[in-house]
Amino acid sequence: MSTPAVAARRPSRKVLIRHGAHAVAVGGDAPVMVQSMTNTDTADAIATSIQVKELARTGSEVVRITVNTAEAAAAVPEIRERLDRMGITTPLVGDFHFNGHKLLAEYPGCAAALSKYRINPGNVGKGARRDDNFARMIDVALLHSKPVRIGVNWGSLDQSLATRMMDENAARPSPLPADAVLREALIVSTLDSAARACELGLPADAIVLSCKVSGVQDLIAVYRDLAGRCEYPLHLGLTEAGMGSKGIVASTAALAVLLQEGIGDTIRVSLTPEPGGDRTREVVVAQEILQTMGIRSFAPMVIACPGCGRTTSTVFQSLAAQIQDYLRAQMPVWRTRHPGVEEMHVAVMGCVVNGPGESKQANIGISLPGTGESPVAPVYVDGEKTVTLKGENIAREFQAIVEDYVQRKYTNAGVNA
Ligand code: SF4
Repeated sequence: MSTPAVAARRPSRKVLIRHGAHAVAVGGDAPVMVQSMTNTDTADAIATSIQVKELARTGSEVVRITVNTAEAAAAVPEIRERLDRMGITTPLVGDFHFNGHKLLAEYPGCAAALSKYRINPGNVGKGARRDDNFARMIDVALLHSKPVRIGVNWGSLDQSLATRMMDENAARPSPLPADAVLREALIVSTLDSAARACELGLPADAIVLSCKVSGVQDLIAVYRDLAGRCEYPLHLGLTEAGMGSKGIVASTAALAVLLQEGIGDTIRVSLTPEPGGDRTREVVVAQEILQTMGIRSFAPMVIACPGCGRTTSTVFQSLAAQIQDYLRAQMPVWRTRHPGVEEMHVAVMGCVVNGPGESKQANIGISLPGTGESPVAPVYVDGEKTVTLKGENIAREFQAIVEDYVQRKYTNAGVNA
């Protein structure tokens, strides 16, 4: 039985985001790229470079930092240098609002160290000053040969444009619903800004667009429409997705529908971390969306059953968690040493009902004993039962089997044995 696939990606121009010799492509035939954003104070170069490193090591291919003050702009070259010294080549994107035109002009070291600028057309000023400020930012992008993302947000939509379009709509014989007019205003703001950037001399293949809203159905409607009206690569993300499971579910629901239709060239999952929570979660979720949809693979996949009354012990839950954490922790090294390992499937199952069946389908699987079953855990490798584990050290022994399998199966040359 063949697995149904996602639709072919919509055609788009390819934009390169460069740092030195390292370049990350967005759009065209490039795979859907994962990006993230720091939540440190950018003026704190040490904290920001450490967080960028963590995001990059988790797999963020581009990291955005806010550049909101003179202190932040002044810190950007130091952040870049610190990352370079740590061997992190991940391109940095500067997020500008309100004062970007000033900061980019007054801090050329910042403008040079960043690999891309995010410009929000709703936050560059009002009236003639808006056009002027926008033009100044595009001039800096041209001077330093940087691409830009024109990133419109529902929460900062150009109010003069929205008001004008609402007035025009009200004068129609059959006015459209207000939310449809606002969605159209978002798209018009994005496309007009891109057209203006091109008039100012920015090449079309240096422009990425985003049009973020916080409602799932609105996001789907906006991007479907936008995708049909331009060939710029599209940055997908549900803005203000929220905390915990709500943020993950809302982002996944919105992004999955669009990705399934071939819309979206780069994604960011905007999760609000729990206090003290791990910022890298947004990278893991973005990767898991792409991987579970069969679009890209990033890390070995753990297939675990949900557990039920047949397995009242927590042994299998902790083994599934341990194996998942172990596989993720190895990825920064495995990614280069064992190419192809990201396609590996590991099954951790709670009892014999589905355990052996799922284990046989995976590269490696273990079926733990359910309540009342004999206290043994058969292990399957490439569909064959190879060993039965028992006793206190099942977790450690199973991890050793996984490690040995990776060493044997995924070689440096990337050839599967
Ligand atoms: S595999 Fe066993 S323990 Fe897991 S959900 Fe199915 S019946 Fe329950």
